[in-house]
Amino acid sequence: MKCPYCENEMISGKICSLGKNAGLTWKDSEKQIRLNDEPKFVALVNGDRISGHICKNCNKIIVDYK
Ligand SMILES: [Zn+2]
Repeated sequence: MKCPYCENEMISGKICSLGKNAGLTWKDSEKQIRLNDEPKFVALVNGDRISGHICKNCNKIIVDYK
């Protein structure tokens, strides 16, 4: 997938939450990035994985919601 902002090739990965106090983490084959620890947002993905694509040029992540 190409980034809609800069047209670089994006890297696929997942947004994960490992628990209420662990925050949200982006994971791909290269690295993990800590995203956010807002408790309400973390609760939405707790124990789940959301697939997405990251652009490390623009610092943006695009996710599918269905
Ligand atoms: Zn980009």
